Amino acid sequence: MEIDDFKRYTDGCFRGTFPPCMCECPLGVDIRSFIDKVQKGNFTTAYRLYRNQVLFPRIVSMICNQPCKAICIRKAIDAPVDMQYIERACVEFSRDKEPIDYNVPKKNHSIAVIGAGLSGMACALKLASRRYDVTVYERRDAPGGMLSGLLPKDVYLSEFEHEFKYVSYNLVLSKEIADVSELQADVVYVATGVGGNDFGLRKEMNQNSLGTKKEGVFLGGSLIGATPVEAIEHGARVSQSIEKYVKVGLMDGVPETYEKHTVNENYFRLSVTPDFPKESTQGEPDRDKVIAEAKRCLKCDCARCRDGCDLMQSFNKYPQRITVDVVATLHPIEQLTKRVASRLLNTCNQCGLCKEMCPEDVDMEDCLLQARRYLFKDGVLPAAFHDFWLRDMEFANSEQAYTLVQPGKNSRYLFFPGCQLGASDPNYVLNAYAFLKKICDNTSLLAGCCGVPADWAGDEMLRDKVQNNILHEWHNLGEPVMIMACPTCLKTFARYLPQIETVSLYDIMVKHALPQWKGKGGGNTVSVYDPCSSRYDSVMQRSIRKLLHWVGYEIEELSCHGKEAQCCSFGGHIHAANPGQVRKITAKRIMENDNLYVTYCSNCRDTFAAAGKECSHILDIVFGTGSPGHCAPDLSQRRRNRVELKNKLLPKAVKEGGKVIKEEIISLNISPGLKKKMNEHLILEEDIYAVIEHCEKTGNKLINRDTGEFTGHLCQGAVTFWVTYTEEETGYMLKNVYSHRMKIKENGNERS
Ligand code: SF4
Ligand code: SF4
Ligand code: SF4
Repeated sequence: MEIDDFKRYTDGCFRGTFPPCMCECPLGVDIRSFIDKVQKGNFTTAYRLYRNQVLFPRIVSMICNQPCKAICIRKAIDAPVDMQYIERACVEFSRDKEPIDYNVPKKNHSIAVIGAGLSGMACALKLASRRYDVTVYERRDAPGGMLSGLLPKDVYLSEFEHEFKYVSYNLVLSKEIADVSELQADVVYVATGVGGNDFGLRKEMNQNSLGTKKEGVFLGGSLIGATPVEAIEHGARVSQSIEKYVKVGLMDGVPETYEKHTVNENYFRLSVTPDFPKESTQGEPDRDKVIAEAKRCLKCDCARCRDGCDLMQSFNKYPQRITVDVVATLHPIEQLTKRVASRLLNTCNQCGLCKEMCPEDVDMEDCLLQARRYLFKDGVLPAAFHDFWLRDMEFANSEQAYTLVQPGKNSRYLFFPGCQLGASDPNYVLNAYAFLKKICDNTSLLAGCCGVPADWAGDEMLRDKVQNNILHEWHNLGEPVMIMACPTCLKTFARYLPQIETVSLYDIMVKHALPQWKGKGGGNTVSVYDPCSSRYDSVMQRSIRKLLHWVGYEIEELSCHGKEAQCCSFGGHIHAANPGQVRKITAKRIMENDNLYVTYCSNCRDTFAAAGKECSHILDIVFGTGSPGHCAPDLSQRRRNRVELKNKLLPKAVKEGGKVIKEEIISLNISPGLKKKMNEHLILEEDIYAVIEHCEKTGNKLINRDTGEFTGHLCQGAVTFWVTYTEEETGYMLKNVYSHRMKIKENGNERS
C-alpha cells in the first residue's frame, strides 16, 4: 500500500460539509456558528456574523421566505427550526449594531450601479466599503425597488441609511438611464429590477460572474428572476466579479465564496435524538423562547463515528484529521513532521464500529491496521507496543501449551477454543469439549492461537506462519468443520482462512441445549455484552440470547449491542501503547447498568471481572464453571492455566515424560500490590525469574547497603525488565519491578 492510498480512506467523509439549511440559504448564512452563539445567549456576536453575511440584517430578517426551513433536518422529527424568529431576535437584542468603519485605501476605479433596489444597494455597499468611487442611479425618487411592496418605507430607508453610515457613495434619484454608454464609469452593474431595462445584455451572460458580453458591464438581481434575498446575494457576488475585473480584466471570473453548495443527502440518514420540544414562535421575540428555539437546532454535522469511538473521543480527532496524521507518521519530513500518530494508531481496538456507524462506510479499522503494517515493514513500529502479546502467542503455540487431541484418524469436527479461553479457565474448554464429544465423538480439539496478535502487531508474515500451521493441521485431520468458541478467532478465520468451514460453539449449544441447563437463571435479568468481534455474526448473537432464555434469564439490552457492539478495551492489544485508555474504556463499559453482564468472549469477561463488575461467560452459566464475581486470573496464572489444560487434555504426555510444564526455577514471594502492578505493566513472573537468575549467575546487580536490596535488569524481546529483590531463606522476595523500552550500553556493547 502506498502512502497516498491512506488519504483516500476518508474520501467519503462529509464531516464539515455545509448543512442542508446553509446550502439552501441564498446568502449562505453560516447557520451552525450563528446558532451556536444564540444558544449561548450571545445575541450581539450572532448579530455581527449575521450582518456580515446578509448586509441588511433588519430587512432580511423580515422578508426572507426561509428556504432553510423547508429542508431543515428537524422537520422530519417534529418541526423545522424557525430561523427567521431567531434572526429577528438578534436584530432586536443586539447591544451593538454599529456598522464597521473600514479603514482601507481609496481605489481609483469608478462604478456605476443602475437601480437602487436590494441588489444595486448591496453591490454599492460592498464596493463603497472597499472605497471604490460608487454612484447609484435610480429612476424613482427613493431607493428600495420591490421593497416598497414588502415593508414600510421608513423601515428599509432607515436600514439603508444605517448600513451606509460610514460609507461614502453617490445616490442619484429620479434619473432614468437610457443607455449604459452614457455613463462615464469604468464598470456598470445593471440591477433595474423586475421588468427593468436590460439594455439587450441579458442573453449570453455568465450566470456565475454575472458578467455580460459587453466589456465592463454586469447584470443581476430580480431583473433576471432573483427573489429579494437572492438579489442581495447577486449584489454581493457581483461586487467580487467587478473587483476581479478591475484587477485582472476578466469578465467571467467565478467568485469562489459564492459557489452554490449542493445538499448532501447523507444528512437525512443521520439518526438524531432531539432534545427541546417545539414551542410557539409566534409574536414578538422573547429572549428565553429564542434561546430555546435555537437549542432545537442540531447544528447538523456528522460525528457518528466519533460518538461510538473512544479513540476519536480521547484524541479529539475525526477520521479526516487522523488520516492526515497517519500520513505524516508514515512519512515524516525531517524537522517538519514527526511520527505524530504512532500512539494513536496503536490505540485502535480494531473493533470496526466506526465503519458500522459511518453512512459512507469510512473504515478506520482497516486504515489504522494498514498503517501498523506499513510501519512494521519499515521497522519503525515501536516493538514494545506489541511485544508482550507476540510472546504470549508464541507461548500459546509452544510445546508447553499447544494441544492437538485427535480421537480418530479423520475428524468430522475440530474444536478450536482459541488461546484465551483455556487461559481464563481450563474448565471452560474441558466442559465444552466433553459436551461436543457427546454430540459427536469424532471431534478433535486444537488449542492454540489464531494469529490475531501478529495481525494487530502489523506482522503479516508471522500471522501467515501461525495460520498456515492451522491449515496444515486441518488438512491432516481431513478438513473437518471447525467449532469456534472465541468470536475474535471466528472473525479472524473468516478474514484470513475462508476455506475453513466454521460454526460457533454457541450455535451448536442452542441446537443441542440440555434439559438440565433449564432454570439456572431463576427469572433474573441480565445484560448481554456482545463482543465487538461478534458484530456481523447475528446468528451467534441470537444463539446467546436463546441460550439465556433457555436457562431462564430475562434480558435487558445494553445501548450498544448487536451491530453496534463496542470493544471491552482488549481488542487491538492497546495495553502497552495506551494503558490509561484501557482503564477508561473498561470503566465506561461497566457503568451502563447494575445487571449481571453475560458475554461469550473470555477477554471481555476477565476484563470486566478485573474491574469489579459481575460478569459471567455463557459457559460459566451453562456448565457452572465459575461464579459471576470470580476473579480474573492474572497474566502469569493465564499461562499456568494453559499448561494445566494441556496436562488435563493429554495426561499421557505427562506420564510418558512429555515436557509440558516448565519448572519454576526459584521460589519468589510477590505481594498482592506488586502482582497488580505486574498485570498492569504486562510483566510475567517468569520475566522476573529470568532477571533474578541472570543477576545471580553473572553477578550483574547493584546492592543497596542500607536495605540489603539487589537491583538488576535483563532485556527480553523489546523490553528491559528491572527487578529489585532481597534474598530470603527459602528464595527471594520481590521488592519492586518495572519495565521499559531502552537500550543499555554495557562494557561498550549495546544491549537491546
Ligand atoms: S437543524 Fe439546524 S443546522 Fe440542521 S438543518 Fe435545521 S436549521 Fe440547519
Ligand atoms: S461517520 Fe465519521 S467518517 Fe463517516 S462521514 Fe461521519 S464524520 Fe465522516
Ligand atoms: S476500529 Fe474501533 S477503536 Fe478503531 S477507529 Fe474504529 S471505532 Fe475507533
